[in-house]
Amino acid sequence: MDCLFCKIIAKQIPANIVYEDEKVLAFLDINPVNPGHLLVVPKVHSENIAVANDEDLLALGLAVKKLAPAVCAATACDGWNLEVNNGNAAGQAIDHTHWHIVPRHKDDGLKHWPGHSYAEGEAAAVAEKIRNFL
Ligand code: AMP
Ligand code: ZN
Repeated sequence: MDCLFCKIIAKQIPANIVYEDEKVLAFLDINPVNPGHLLVVPKVHSENIAVANDEDLLALGLAVKKLAPAVCAATACDGWNLEVNNGNAAGQAIDHTHWHIVPRHKDDGLKHWPGHSYAEGEAAAVAEKIRNFL
């Protein structure tokens, strides 16, 4: 398997690593949205959240809880986004589960994604459809 993030985890490719434990590695995104933008990845390869193992997801969540305040303090941020792109259509470029921690500043110019209204009855129908797949 030719996975860039597995190579970073194996220290075959350099990265600016800021945190490492038994299950998780966190390093600077090479093309940050803002300085301090981190990627948090499970050490065990999986393609995305839906197929990652539960222990790794728990470890990722706990790592984010520890890392985000440090990122924010180091960059004097006003807030931060936790972003996860799952699948090519959602912007996932690297097929190894990873969560972005993006420090945000009041004047950074980034916009929130647009919201749309539901048509009459559409929300209830979509919610019912989703429940049927659980
Ligand atoms: P995504 O679009 O959610 O799959 O995000 C992949 C991220 O990996 C992008 O934000 C890239 O800038 C980042 N990236 C790609 N190559 C490297 C690398 N060698 N070291 C650190 N980050 C990288
Ligand atoms: Zn991998």
